[in-house]
Amino acid sequence: MRPALSAETVIAGVAGRPVRHSLSPLIHNAWLEAAGIDGVYVAFSPGVAAFAAFAGGLRGGVIRGLNVTAPFKQDALAIADDLTERARGAGSANLLLFEADGVIRADNTDGDGLLGAFAEQAPDFDSAAAPVVIIGAGGAARGAAHAFLAAGAPEVRIVNRDRARAEALAALFGPRARAFGVAEAEGALGGAGAVINATPVDLGHAAGPAIGLETLGPACVVMDMVYRPVRTAWLDAARDRGLVTVDGLAMLIGQAKPSFEAFFARPPGAIDVRALALAALER
Ligand code: NAP
Repeated sequence: MRPALSAETVIAGVAGRPVRHSLSPLIHNAWLEAAGIDGVYVAFSPGVAAFAAFAGGLRGGVIRGLNVTAPFKQDALAIADDLTERARGAGSANLLLFEADGVIRADNTDGDGLLGAFAEQAPDFDSAAAPVVIIGAGGAARGAAHAFLAAGAPEVRIVNRDRARAEALAALFGPRARAFGVAEAEGALGGAGAVINATPVDLGHAAGPAIGLETLGPACVVMDMVYRPVRTAWLDAARDRGLVTVDGLAMLIGQAKPSFEAFFARPPGAIDVRALALAALER
């Protein structure tokens, strides 16, 4: 059982809108209880235009920190006084720390989560071996492009429904990034070492952009950031072709670990949070 709440209890949380379905409270509170840490992790849902007032009001460290999710990740970067290089590179923050002296620090652990998910579920994957294809050109795609380029990817290829948005994103990263429209996706997939869905749609369903897996080589890893459901039709199609897959839940848990350590200055407790999250997703 967790200790009773007191003035000593370290408080952290997640801010998003909507936030009701976030798995972060389940994951962090399970780790807290397993580690016997006097801490609690709660969910906040400020108004869409009220994030700066909400987070600004937390200066001083009464609340130790926040994970930040859609639609506030760019707002979180803007409000911070101090940014890590990876938050600047990703163009957004999923982690804010409120220091006792009033300073707000921003970080982004999504790239860690993404690379950690590959290390866990595709251990033979080598970021530096071949181009990485990212479907989507939003915040998650930007973070992924930054993480893979930092990990040595020779090229990232950004494929997006709105080609101009893919071009704008590729331009941020220089000559190792290229932009493609969905109609040109087949060309982008040739020789890829990994293909990542960074859109909110399950690419295995007709509603999403038509990104076929037929042209992928046998060593290409297929990753889906979507984790509702964990087994997307896109990942099932890749498995049917014999390809190694990486799921979005591994990324979610992977980004949570360094966040937990930043909030509570201790490693997570020994408990299988993936099993807990899978059970919650099935409910
Ligand atoms: P975002 O900024 O809104 O970007 C969404 C992207 O998806 C855009 O490029 C958009 O294309 C594309 N898109 C949306 N609907 C589409 C459709 N029907 N057909 C084709 N393309 C479509 O969102 P985001 O913040 O990057 O997040 C993307 C996804 O990643 C979300 O589902 C989020 O939950 C997930 N995510 C997961 C994790 C994790 O830990 N597993 C972490 C971060 C994000 P246009 O530019 O053409 O509109």
